[in-house]
Amino acid sequence: MRKKIVAGNWKMNLDYNEGLSLFSEIINMIKDEVTGKQEAIVCSPFIHLHSLAQLAKGYNKISLGAQNAHQAESGAYTGEISAKMIRSVGVAYVILGHSERRQYFGETNELLAKKTDTALKNELKPIFCIGETLQEREANKHFDVIKSQMAEGVFHLDAAQFGKLVIAYEPVWAIGTGVTASSAQAQEIHAFIRKEIAAKYSQQVADDTTILYGGSCNPTNAPELFAQPDIDGGLIGGASLKSRDFVDILKVFN
Ligand code: PEP
Repeated sequence: MRKKIVAGNWKMNLDYNEGLSLFSEIINMIKDEVTGKQEAIVCSPFIHLHSLAQLAKGYNKISLGAQNAHQAESGAYTGEISAKMIRSVGVAYVILGHSERRQYFGETNELLAKKTDTALKNELKPIFCIGETLQEREANKHFDVIKSQMAEGVFHLDAAQFGKLVIAYEPVWAIGTGVTASSAQAQEIHAFIRKEIAAKYSQQVADDTTILYGGSCNPTNAPELFAQPDIDGGLIGGASLKSRDFVDILKVFN
């Protein structure tokens, strides 16, 4: 059975102390309120990760993720952070291919394929983000965009490597806009993604892959989205900065 996951993406928010206190609140609420087998992942800025990993030690319902990692193993890349460094502080996941990185930092499918390889080599599990822009949806190109993001970004992996990924479908027009994809729109794409995975690998690999929805997800719309057969949780931006909202979203799987 595939895992149910709710991952928070803090983006470039919260200073060190603010981040620590939000994380402590989240841990305490999870301890008291989360009763199912769902996993919470907090993807904080790099600066917080080591301390958050100390706070999370010995607690198996919450894991940590970075929001990016460099494609090279190490070297003269001033200002960058390697997958090995991230892994060395006890972080399990890394978001790759978020639309903000594609848009503002020019990350291409080709570059993301390299980042995926380096992350996996260093035992970091990628949360690989895909999704179409509004323009692409309006031009009815959304299935083609998703198909090529998967084909060029992750379908070079073998089945065992692919099995370590979490896929996040995030329509760009729904991120941070307050406009959510309807549960039917999201389910349609999730089913398509799973079908592509089955065609590339096998039905078993497809059935085992966790596919998250992201884009203005909140405690009000999460129950309907997560009730769809191919939606296995969420990647949460804005609402992950409020402990109550984040844990309420997580509790949809109680
Ligand atoms: C995101 O950044 O991945 C995201 C889904 O943001 P928001 O929930 O704020 O739309």
